[in-house]
Amino acid sequence: MAALLTGLQALLGSDNVVAGAEVSAAVYSPWTRLGEPVALVRPRSTAEVAGVVRLAREFSTPVVPWGGRTGLVDGALADGAIALSFERMAAVEAIDPAASTLTVQAGCVLETACRAVEAEGLFLPLDLGARGSATLGGMIATNAGGNRVLRYGMTRDSVLGLEVVLADGTVISSLNTLIKNNAGYDLKQLFIGSEGTLGIVTRAVLRLRPKPVSQQTALVGVDRFEALAPLLRLLEGELAGGLSAFEAMWPEFYELVTTPPAAGRPVLPPAFAFYVLVESLGADPELDGDRFNRVLNRALEDGLIADAVIAKSQAECDRLWALRDDVAQTARNGPILTFDVGLPIARMDGYVADVRATLARALPKATLTVFGHLGDGNLHLIVGADPAAKAQVEAAVYRPLASLNGTVSAEHGIGLQKRAYLHLSRSAEEIALMRQLKAALDPGNLLNPGKILSGPGSADVNQAAT
Ligand code: ZN
Repeated sequence: MAALLTGLQALLGSDNVVAGAEVSAAVYSPWTRLGEPVALVRPRSTAEVAGVVRLAREFSTPVVPWGGRTGLVDGALADGAIALSFERMAAVEAIDPAASTLTVQAGCVLETACRAVEAEGLFLPLDLGARGSATLGGMIATNAGGNRVLRYGMTRDSVLGLEVVLADGTVISSLNTLIKNNAGYDLKQLFIGSEGTLGIVTRAVLRLRPKPVSQQTALVGVDRFEALAPLLRLLEGELAGGLSAFEAMWPEFYELVTTPPAAGRPVLPPAFAFYVLVESLGADPELDGDRFNRVLNRALEDGLIADAVIAKSQAECDRLWALRDDVAQTARNGPILTFDVGLPIARMDGYVADVRATLARALPKATLTVFGHLGDGNLHLIVGADPAAKAQVEAAVYRPLASLNGTVSAEHGIGLQKRAYLHLSRSAEEIALMRQLKAALDPGNLLNPGKILSGPGSADVNQAAT
């Protein structure tokens, strides 16, 4: 251990290697378990990252990349590993307005990148609640989703090029800036969403879009689940491709975010079966506003919505989004377990009823709060329950998904927390291929080991959930 630390200090300077008790003092995240790393290192260049990986290999010590540490599946847990922090690799390197591209270092915080891009009159369409802490490297490694996937896709859809350090220290610099490039395997896709298990993302080129000049936002009340899918189709069709968010809230969520101690207050009476935050982004404030009002009126006439509040100013728009973003309220009554399942919209109502019934039988005191990116087929389920009942809660949430062609993770990833349930969403053949890729790219199992897949020889399947 001493020799490893000496090597790291020689490579990075002693200021950038934190070890022993100082590590736990230097890092803390309220969102995720980080474990006890043997050292926290802060490289400032891709060459230094490669140097750290080579040293880690020499001393058979795992490396766990750390971005904003706001993930929700223990993907950054670094027990006994070198925690590789990107805090000194956080630069916006270049914005090319003509090509509409952004080049960043992996530690660049999403909000910082968005501001820099908007100052150039362009738009980086990625957006999520952790925008002030999530790093682009972490978002790429986890293929983060968020609030505007409906229109712009997941993080994967905005990545044009990547630079990655492999497990043997090789640097793959594939900083492509072209929208179309079919020259052989698209290697970047291997690393996007691999949660740092196949390589470490150090830099990236992202695709930018024109900055929308108009934003229309409304909160609508809906009486019955069956109206949600036709409402989504109507908005997608009539808003001329502008629909950018369709965020549904079940009544329990709406109540939590509109009553003290939450800062929000009801903008629609608490009388509806569902509340949906609808957003459209466009290029013409006047025309877009007229179209938005017309479409919502039509939805009202067709009986798809029962009531609507349309934001008349940026402050009103922010107030509506603040309700949707105040996810922290779901934890105010005690410990919670959070889920990000995906399934076809048509099956959601039955699925939620099923989970509710199973929980009521098994854990009568458990609470269930549901909201999410309905337009993406992605629901967040928040279960308030004793942490000791975790396995029962997970079984109630995950077990019905296999027969619904659903997924145990629509956007948060697998990390450690969902590893035992991966087989509910991926076939044995798919998991075997994942293992083959991992063995080929990281034969020593040193890159974020144990995340997504258990180490060689261990079982992944949680029998309780099969
Ligand atoms: Zn989400």
